Amino acid sequence: STAKLASKDVRSKVTFDDVAGLKEAKIEIMEIVDFLKHPETYTKLGAKIPKGVMLVGPPGTGKTLLAKAVAGEAQVPFFSLSGSEFVEMFVGVGASRVRDLFKQAKEKAPSIIFIDEIDAIGRARGKVNALQSNDERENTLNQLLTELDGFGTNTGVIVLSATNRADILDKALLRPGRFDRHIYLELPTKQEREAIFKVHLKPVIKGSDVDISLLASLTPGFSGADIANMCNEAALIAARKARKQVDQEDFLEARDRIVGGLERKGKLISSKE
Ligand code: ATP
Repeated sequence: STAKLASKDVRSKVTFDDVAGLKEAKIEIMEIVDFLKHPETYTKLGAKIPKGVMLVGPPGTGKTLLAKAVAGEAQVPFFSLSGSEFVEMFVGVGASRVRDLFKQAKEKAPSIIFIDEIDAIGRARGKVNALQSNDERENTLNQLLTELDGFGTNTGVIVLSATNRADILDKALLRPGRFDRHIYLELPTKQEREAIFKVHLKPVIKGSDVDISLLASLTPGFSGADIANMCNEAALIAARKARKQVDQEDFLEARDRIVGGLERKGKLISSKE
């Protein structure tokens, strides 16, 4: 299993340029990059570098992207794990997986551990997921708490986690020395959507009638992931029509498809804009 885990040590190529909008979140997370690159600036003054940071926000707002950007900017290895992986695990596997992950990350320090969907492990006790034995989930959670408490501050390992359900988390996870720092990500504003379109349209051959500002106006409630999907969908539509470029009408058709999908999932809430 060590060989399998070693493959989780990925050098991230994502940088802050790939992350559009999220200005506040980027400023806050920039600090983490500095902790990893220049720990002595902090430790020589007797400061303790935080161990755990939780990224909180709706699905598709760029939590994973931001975590990878931290690793990419700091040029440190990125070890990741998704809470949902644990749902299907056999008894005892979850806890040992967590133990292995921390061991590997410490060996490769400075490094980043990213735990996506931490709510799947860290749901408050009693709120049982029907698919998973609660005992097994609790074992995994306890192992995670043990690991977080066991490594000192200033070991060069920073643990980032992500959730869209901070409200259901076990309070034990949020105590000082654990995930005591929170960074909030929101759905993008019109201006931010425009910036996200620009990132995702870079590789796309656009027709001269493509109006990014209008596309941003027509997509309230879209997350960054929805916009990335829409750009790709538009390119697929244009390719199917055997066109040489992607035109505004292709984007509008793609938008309608994404809106349809979001409505079916009940995700499109009326926008404030
Ligand atoms: P989930 O909660 O569903 O795991 P997430 O918040 O982790 O979602 P990501 O996986 O980071 O979201 O986003 C999915 C994809 O959407 C990214 O790989 C990227 O292509 C695009 N995306 C999301 N947010 C942004 C953004 N702010 N700028 C550019 N692209 C974005």
